[in-house]
This record gives sequence, structure tokens and C-alpha cells, in this order.
Amino acid sequence: MTARRVMGIETEYGVSAPGDPAANAMLMSSQVVNAYAAPLGSRAGRARWDYEDEAPLRDARGWEISRDSAHASQLTDAPEDPGLANVILTNGARLYVDHAHPEYSSPEVMSPRDVVLWDKAGERVMLEAVRRIAANPGLGDVNLYKNNTDNKGASYGTHENYLMRRSTPFADVVKYLTPFFVTRQVFTGAGRVGRGQDGTGTGFQISQRADFFEVEVGLETTLKRPIINTRDEPHASADKYRRLHVIIGDANLCEPATLLKLGTTNLVLAMIEDAAFTRDLSIERPVGTLHDISHDPTLKQQVTLRDGRSMTALELQWLFFEQVSAYVSDRYGDDADEATVEVMHRWESVLSRLGEDPMLCARELDWVAKLRLLEGFRNREGLNWDAHRLQAIDLQYADVRPEKGLYHRLASRGQVERVVTDEEITEAVHEPPHDTRAYFRGRCLARYGEHVAAASWDSVIFDIPGRGALQRVPTLDPSRGTKEHVESLLQRCETAADLVDALAAE
Ligand code: ATP
Ligand code: MG
Ligand code: MG
Repeated sequence: MTARRVMGIETEYGVSAPGDPAANAMLMSSQVVNAYAAPLGSRAGRARWDYEDEAPLRDARGWEISRDSAHASQLTDAPEDPGLANVILTNGARLYVDHAHPEYSSPEVMSPRDVVLWDKAGERVMLEAVRRIAANPGLGDVNLYKNNTDNKGASYGTHENYLMRRSTPFADVVKYLTPFFVTRQVFTGAGRVGRGQDGTGTGFQISQRADFFEVEVGLETTLKRPIINTRDEPHASADKYRRLHVIIGDANLCEPATLLKLGTTNLVLAMIEDAAFTRDLSIERPVGTLHDISHDPTLKQQVTLRDGRSMTALELQWLFFEQVSAYVSDRYGDDADEATVEVMHRWESVLSRLGEDPMLCARELDWVAKLRLLEGFRNREGLNWDAHRLQAIDLQYADVRPEKGLYHRLASRGQVERVVTDEEITEAVHEPPHDTRAYFRGRCLARYGEHVAAASWDSVIFDIPGRGALQRVPTLDPSRGTKEHVESLLQRCETAADLVDALAAE
């Protein structure tokens, strides 16, 4: 079996100026992107060109280019214009400002493990930006957090993206994914001190995002957030595919949590596409239930199914696990690929231990790791859940700086489980995935950066001296442009002009 699928993850980071609570978030976020993408220089002005008869590329999501992601810090002009803070990196990722937050959108990858790897590379990118800003005395203090709420009423997102067959009825996606998403927080939750959108309610809850979800299905992503988002921009052939845009997940620091988040969802989707579910697991009151589950870290909260049964979130996850497990062995027997076997194994193991004692998952799941730290602190200091210092610990957990961030301190002491190595992450900061079009995008940038004018998920645009018009190379198929497809072509082509000519001749 192969559970391979085109996937990607976007993370908006929380931004703050430790010494200046009133600092402008949009400005700080632009500084973050620009500090990382410093060599933009005069290219920043290019964002407004016209490409043939199309609207200005900027409106069509053309991105500016950071040719050398390891360059020293320097602000480009007009840093307060977030439209300019929108770049592509040599690893194929996109770094930009969205809703006054710096966002890293991973390159397209084919496995949950690669999602973990290129998501972690994004943490490094953000850390590097913070360090460059700190090293520049002309810039204010800026820090970043991989979390999902400021506890003042705002939430920012972590979005998963899954390429799906267009022919799959969307009603099936809604039907099966809704109960799955409402309950998967038992392992995807990042943990939060505070209840309600503004966090003023007392207590610890499982998920950062849960309280911000208000409707079951919808197009919005920042207002009336839906459990199932209907955004449909495939960045691929729209006849064949849709890109499922999942906005309900928390930002995870624990690598096994990210692996499980993408890995289990990917398998549930495969079953939906194959119309393989035999049992309806629809639940009553999905939105209210989502909140209720999050508010009960003892995992005792009951969920009512439409068929009248009542069970815990964990028990409902077991029903999903059993169906997926039967599907995998039915379709693939002993031939299931390694990635699928790993996800199934971890899923089973985590559900078992959560049932026994959630604390047994403190090395793998963020909400448990965080709860453990908080309980230790509460006991030592004799604090109730309404103590303000607990929210500070919650925030510190997500701090991107290894010397400050509590997750990072756990990791450096070997107290959390890893899925990828530090060496692999270091490489993924610059290296694109080899098995998607991100390879072509990233490599074009690394090799012909001088003459890459812009790029998006589905094209790379060259500006070649002596040629009047910009040359657009479409990359509509996410599975083409891999290392296997284009490595020798790129090696053969000394210049961007050679490449464009070679592609035109094909
Ligand atoms: P936002 O939600 O911030 O408004 P967005 O979701 O439309 O934006 P991006 O921030 O550009 O888009 O991120 C897109 C993500 O989807 C990336 O992580 C990318 O790797 C992934 N992606 C791109 N094309 C596809 C595809 N065809 N199928 C699945 N994932 C894709
Ligand atoms: Mg985005
Ligand atoms: Mg998105």
C-alpha cells in the first residue's frame, strides 16, 4: 500500500515585542519576513509588474524571491507594506505575512514524516529571523511563538493541506471528517491555560484552537471558523483535484503529534476517497462537543452519536482506528508501506496509553507535556489554575528560542520523542523535498535565483535578460518536477535561458 499524498502545512506564528506590548504586529511580522529574506533589496519593487495580460502578479499571489536565505539582516523598503513581505525559499516553502502574523507554508511533501521535517525547518527559519532582528540594534525587540492564541481573543492558524480526488463527494468528507476532527484533539491538542476565546475562563484545556470554532462547515477561516473549511484552491488541475484546507489543528511542537495529526488524517481521507467506511460515526452538536472535549483533560467527557450511543472522544477515536486498521489490512495485507505501519502503530499506542493515564504520553503529545510542566509548577508553588504565571508558562512553552522555549528545553534534555534528527532539519531549511514540484521550485531558486522573478505553488516565472516578456513555467502537477524528473535537466542547463529553451523544446 502506499499512503502517499501531496500535503503541506502552514503555520502562522504569534508575534510580540517583549518590552513593548503596544508594538504594531503587522510591522513586526514584516520585519520577521524581511529579516530572513534580506537579499530581496531592489527586487522588492518588482512585486507590481504585469505579466502579459494578467492582473498584477502580486494580486495573483506572485511571490518575491529570497535568493540567499542565509544572508545578513537588512530591512527592505516599505517594511510596513505586508504585500512586499512574501517570499519563496530555496527549500520550496513560502514565507509571508498573513493577518499580521508571519507565516511559513511548507513545501509540498508526500508523507507525514516529511511534513514534520519541513515544518520543523520552518521553526528554524523563524528562529533565525528572531536572531537577526535581535542582532540588529536598529530594529525593535521581536519574538515569535508557535502557538495559536494570544489569550486576548485572537487566534491564528495552523493549516493542513491535502490533495484529494475531485470526484470524492464533499458530503462524505464532511460526514466522516467532522467526528474525526472533533475527537482527534486528544492527540493533536497543544494544551492551553484559559478557557473561552479571550482565555479569561479558568482551567487547562486540551486544545489551543477549539474555543475559536463556531460553525460546522464554511468558507471563512478567521471569522465564524468552521470545523470543515470549504476553501477550494487546488493549486493543481481543478478537474482532477481539490486541496482540502484543514484549519482546525493546533500548532504542534512535539514531532510525534504532528506525525499523527497528518498521518491519521491522511488515512481517514484515503478511506473516504475509497468509500470504504461502513459505519456512520456522526455526532450530535459537533461544535459544542469540540469545546466540551477540549475542556476535560481527564478525557471523560461523553460524546453523543447520532445513532444514540454515547462514548468518550478516546472511544470514538478507537472506532476510527479499528475501521482504518481493517481497511489497511483488507486492501494491503502485509504490503502496507512503512509510513502507514508507523502511523497505525503510533496511533494505537497513544490511544492505549491515553486510556490508561494520559501522563504516559508526556514525551509525545504537546498538551500532556505542557500539562505535566504546569502541574509540577503548580505543586511546587501552590498555585491555582487562575494564577497569571501559568499563562506565562503556557506562552513560554511555544517560544521559538531554544534557550527560552520550554518545549525546546525538554527536547535538549531528551525528554521528548523525536521523529527527525537535528541534522535532517538543518538540511531541510535549504533543501527542498525531492519527490514533489517543490524540488523544481527550490532548485530553480538556488541555481538561477538571479533570474527568477517570482513563483507560486503552480508556476516559476523567469525574467531573462534580452527577452521582452517574463517566461512562465507552469508546475500545475504537484507530482512532477521531482528530483527524478528534472535533476539532470537542471544540471544540463547552465543558465535560466537554457532551461526555458529546453522546456520550450520539449
Ligand atoms: P491562507 O490559508 O494562509 O490564506 P492558503 O492556505 O491558500 O493560504 P498557502 O499559505 O500559500 O495557502 O499554503 C498552501 C499550502 O498548501 C502549502 O503548505 C503547500 O505546500 C500546500 N499545497 C500547495 N499545493 C497543494 C496541493 N495541490 N495539494 C495539497 N497541498 C498543497
Ligand atoms: Mg497560508
Ligand atoms: Mg491556509
